[in-house]
Amino acid sequence: MIFLKGDKIMCGIVGYIGRRDCSDVLMDGLEKLEYRGYDSAGIAVFENGEIKTVKTRGKLKAMTEKLARDGKPQGFCGIGHTRWATHGEPSDVNSHPHSNGRVTIVHNGIIENYAQLKEFLTEKGYEFKSQTDSEVVACLLDYYYAERNPLRAIMETVRELHGSFALGILFKDFPERVYAVRKGSPLIVGVGDNEYFIASDIPAFLKYTKKYIILDDDEILCMDTNGIEFFDVHGITIKKEIQTAEWDVEQAQKCGYPHYMLKEIHEQPTVVRKTLDMLVKDGVPVFDEIGLTDKMLRGVSRVFVVACGTAMHAGIIARYAIEKLARVPVTVEVASEFRYMEPIVGENDLVIVVSQSGETADTKAGLELAKSRGAKTLAIVNVKYSAIAREADMCIHTPAGPEIAVASTKAYSVQVAALYLIAFRFAFARGIILEDELKRLTEQLYRSPEAIENVLKNKDECQFIASQLVNVETLFFIGRGFDYALSLEASLKLKEITYIHSEAYAAGELKHGTISLIEDNVPVITVATQQNVLPKTISNMEEVKARGAKIIAICRKGTEFAEDTVDLRLDIDADMDDILVPLPTVCALQLIAYYTSVLRGIDPDKPRNLAKSVTTE
Ligand code: GLU
Repeated sequence: MIFLKGDKIMCGIVGYIGRRDCSDVLMDGLEKLEYRGYDSAGIAVFENGEIKTVKTRGKLKAMTEKLARDGKPQGFCGIGHTRWATHGEPSDVNSHPHSNGRVTIVHNGIIENYAQLKEFLTEKGYEFKSQTDSEVVACLLDYYYAERNPLRAIMETVRELHGSFALGILFKDFPERVYAVRKGSPLIVGVGDNEYFIASDIPAFLKYTKKYIILDDDEILCMDTNGIEFFDVHGITIKKEIQTAEWDVEQAQKCGYPHYMLKEIHEQPTVVRKTLDMLVKDGVPVFDEIGLTDKMLRGVSRVFVVACGTAMHAGIIARYAIEKLARVPVTVEVASEFRYMEPIVGENDLVIVVSQSGETADTKAGLELAKSRGAKTLAIVNVKYSAIAREADMCIHTPAGPEIAVASTKAYSVQVAALYLIAFRFAFARGIILEDELKRLTEQLYRSPEAIENVLKNKDECQFIASQLVNVETLFFIGRGFDYALSLEASLKLKEITYIHSEAYAAGELKHGTISLIEDNVPVITVATQQNVLPKTISNMEEVKARGAKIIAICRKGTEFAEDTVDLRLDIDADMDDILVPLPTVCALQLIAYYTSVLRGIDPDKPRNLAKSVTTE
């Protein structure tokens, strides 16, 4: 996916000018953006010089029904939107597009100063139909359209807006023309053969063209039958580079899997291998190309990993790996905390920011802060040319391909694989391990695709475990060290897509309070793959077992437990060092979450209240 920095997550914008049936193109595009989550939808199309708008609360199905009932706008130019309400309930009136005066818009984002603007515009005589913050944009554009110059109106309006926005704009007087501008929310321009698109993400137009241009903050696009033109905030024409999407429609589709999530889980062996192939030369990880040299690694006194959610959990794995192997202190910070905590970070520190989309707003802010303090910054992102990729000093672009399911799986695995390689190189650069060991570790990591395959072969067992979890109200994940890092990720994954409450605890920490929640039959999934702490973890299992817990152990093949300790076990068949076993193990935990979600009748690809790319603070 391409997601550009934004202040609001979900929601989709599309726009089209060309010779195809515009309503169809818009609806098709919105459907491709459905993964982003939304609560209402709408389109506006120029029909014989007049703007015809159809919008409704609810899913696209409701839109399709409404279009069938009320008639589909007939035309070749228009804009469409799926809304994720932030201001005003999801309703027909609050749905986008919004029209006021001579302007019709779709908006993604939040206008923070909308109340002041609304007051100002009300004084000027504007009447508002909706409760959205977005409608003020339509009014303000109309207000500044006094000279009937759309570009001027947009420039003036943008100057007044605080917050974030991606806007698709139609001016009544200019049929067959779409304007767009963005600040903080994503917007991509699709360049076809005498047809042009705007969209929040590439899949919306991938069927028609692979060529795209990223609209940057404060840039204005004008597209009409003559072509496309870009302007800066001063109205000066700018040149933009056309990029070509590397993946095709096929890759952005389910390919026979019932859900994207399952497809993406299955892609892990391939994409992990790709990641290794990309970063390993002659049997050892090399990062010179991106500027992460041994010299630099030697000079680093502390490492920070700044990220959110699943990416942050990848950071915790990195922490254990880097500290263990390279003996450098690593702090993992939740990006939303890091950015406001006045972190003590400076020139000798390496700040690694991790984000699938490369657009996560908090992570991006963390990156900016780290840069301003003089730290060296390294981004690990899955989306090329994303904001974080462009801003960091160094960047690893993980080759996981488009991740469409909201709950991240393959992106996590490739992040972890890249971070392991960094840990190895770090240890080597600092003289803690020699080349032989560097080679050995790398070779061990190369075993992970096969180990993940083994887990995938055993997916029935994961499904069986899931069947035991379907009706539970709460459950716990416990583990130590790397297993604790995995527990955090497993618990998050499960909560995200099954809505079952769960908590992840460092196994030794449970008895400092949380053990009071253990009663008969509460499942405790114990991740117990690390031999160095296994006896301790087993003691913790026994503690909860004695209080009635049902123990599900995720352990390495051959692990022995005293009789009756474990109710169910899942063996990870991996011929590799303990510290690398998280890669296959996480796959099992993802599958458990996936099957539990499906068995509970939930669509794991589109969990409620969640967004794929969290571009809001
Ligand atoms: N803030 C706007 C609204 O609530 C746009 C939300 C969105 O990005 O979908 O209507």
